[in-house]
Amino acid sequence: MLCVGNRRRDDPHTVLASGGINAALGTIDPEDSWEQHAADTLREGYWLSDPMSVELLCRAAPRAIEDLLHWGARLAREQDGRLTQRFFGAHRYRRTCFAGDYTGREIQRVLVERALAVGVELRYDVYLTRLLVHDGHVFGAHGFDLDDGSRRLLVSDAVVLAEHGGVLLDISQLERKRILERLPRMYRHSMGGVRVDPETHATDVAGLFAVGSARPECAAPTGLAANSLAECLVFGRVVAEQAARWSDDLDVQVRDRSAIDEAREEVDAMLARRRPRGPPDIAGDADLAHAFDLQASAAGSTSGSRRARARTTRGARRSTSVLP
Ligand SMILES: Cc1cc2nc3c(=O)[nH]c(=O)nc-3n(C[C@H](O)[C@H](O)[C@H](O)COP(=O)(O)OP(=O)(O)OC[C@H]3O[C@@H](n4cnc5c(N)ncnc54)[C@H](O)[C@@H]3O)c2cc1C
Repeated sequence: MLCVGNRRRDDPHTVLASGGINAALGTIDPEDSWEQHAADTLREGYWLSDPMSVELLCRAAPRAIEDLLHWGARLAREQDGRLTQRFFGAHRYRRTCFAGDYTGREIQRVLVERALAVGVELRYDVYLTRLLVHDGHVFGAHGFDLDDGSRRLLVSDAVVLAEHGGVLLDISQLERKRILERLPRMYRHSMGGVRVDPETHATDVAGLFAVGSARPECAAPTGLAANSLAECLVFGRVVAEQAARWSDDLDVQVRDRSAIDEAREEVDAMLARRRPRGPPDIAGDADLAHAFDLQASAAGSTSGSRRARARTTRGARRSTSVLP
């Protein structure tokens, strides 16, 4: 099994998640239940979330916390040893577990350790540009090496998409003053809109599954704050089982040469179009904008720091490049 990323393993969005992770454990409020968690999620999501996904998430979230603890996650505890749970977002009961203000980082840490322990190969130097599909069946992905620009062809029985992209939360209808008041340190956070089967998280492409920010179902803005991390764990287990089953059952796979050539030509064309501005054509404006927003948040919002931010942004754009 190969897990591919285009950022350092301590630098995906997951490490920014500081609020916590939801599960109806009832450690602090014993009257809590998965049913109440589901009700809060559906209500907060304006009834847009798929009820089946919500049920699966809320039923399985306690198991996800158990797994994390088993793998060594250090979550906050009360003096008597119970896990601490707090309010976060529109919860009826205290059900958010956390590790200081670095919950996502802690989860990422134990998951990486666990993945390495069970022999998953992790690579963080490949930028994937295209999924390879033949006749409705996925057979891998294509991209390029971020260090030297060489092309990368990855063939696989199944692919799990676990990255954001595509859907922007448009809040332009809100007044600027209100946005700054309510979201003073807002990050640009895009989430994917890949359609999946609510139970298996399989997509319409055979062998392709989606999870996490590629498929946020029960998390804000269509669900409840701090459900995202729980979704990654709960549905991460689901897609892992599904992908393994798919692979076991696969008899024959066609690796379509023309799909590979097309993907390669696409990368060649993008790299040939290199402009002094740097890689946004390739790496995506969204990724850079996200990095710039982080710099902006770090810089604060005074006019002096806004000027500093503009300088930093220009500098970052100039200094980032991708080698052909
Ligand atoms: C500021 C912030 C605070 C948050 N707080 C919380 C919280 O308190 N509780 C909560 O539950 N959720 C929170 N969330 C949401 C939660 O962090 C995310 O939904 C979740 O971490 C998504 O995990 P993921 O693995 O899907 O995505 P990511 O952690 O973003 O990982 C995506 C991976 O895909 C790789 N990738 C992307 N594109 C490519 C490409 N083209 N080629 C190769 N690799 C690629 C990246 O390198 C990365 O490793 C927060 C999000 C943000 C931004």
